[in-house]
Amino acid sequence: MDKARKLFIAGNWKMNKTVAEALDLVKTLKRDLADVREVDIAVCPPFTALHPVGQLLDNTNIKVGGQDMYWDKFGAFTGEVNAAMLKDVLCAYVIIGHSERRQFFGETNETVNKKTKAALAARLKPIVCVGEMLAERESNRTEAVVTDQVLNSLAGLKPEELLEVTVAYEPVWAIGTGKTATAQQAQEVHALIRRLLAQLSDAKTAARIRIQYGGSVKPSNARELMGQPDVDGALVGGASLQARDFVEMIQNVRN
Ligand code: PEP
Repeated sequence: MDKARKLFIAGNWKMNKTVAEALDLVKTLKRDLADVREVDIAVCPPFTALHPVGQLLDNTNIKVGGQDMYWDKFGAFTGEVNAAMLKDVLCAYVIIGHSERRQFFGETNETVNKKTKAALAARLKPIVCVGEMLAERESNRTEAVVTDQVLNSLAGLKPEELLEVTVAYEPVWAIGTGKTATAQQAQEVHALIRRLLAQLSDAKTAARIRIQYGGSVKPSNARELMGQPDVDGALVGGASLQARDFVEMIQNVRN
């Protein structure tokens, strides 16, 4: 595929996989994706599997990411892990502000902003998620919602910091539902996000930032979605849990 930016595909495993299951999956990915250089690849296992997965994938073309983190450096925050702890277990990335965190765990643009800054300070690359709910799309509020999320989640970042960020556009109505945004719907919002990134920095910087699409991406629709000019990869839930699907998806878009 002729792309302005190198594609980046990350698997978000959510609350799935024991350590043994995680290692099984990544052993296959490591073998079957070993020769992929055209696409950046990451997997985001649950916290409990990060270290063994990180060790198995150390020095390979598949990077590891956490699914969330807290912004403080240490202290009395029961249940939380910080950016340095994710680095310690060999993470290169961290997902921040996933819609499930926003919906079920009280994540806001303000907390996403704090986490993003803390991740960058620890040299961890944030994948910052935005996306509208079904009712918001149906009432023509997609643009307003996504604008608010992008501008506030990424407020105060310097251009060189924004270059380390991946934005994931994930319409909430498309996550885990089997409903995918059409390639045109995705492209429209991705183009909006790129304009907002230019507003936060400048056009040259914005042109270099990767924007992933997420929401029921599978091997059969990946190529059409990632063929859009502003769709630079995917954040993949369900289809990243099976080695066969994840490998096939990457093979389908690599050239
Ligand atoms: C996600 O949760 O990030 C996601 C995109 O899930 P799915 O691919 O299952 O819709």
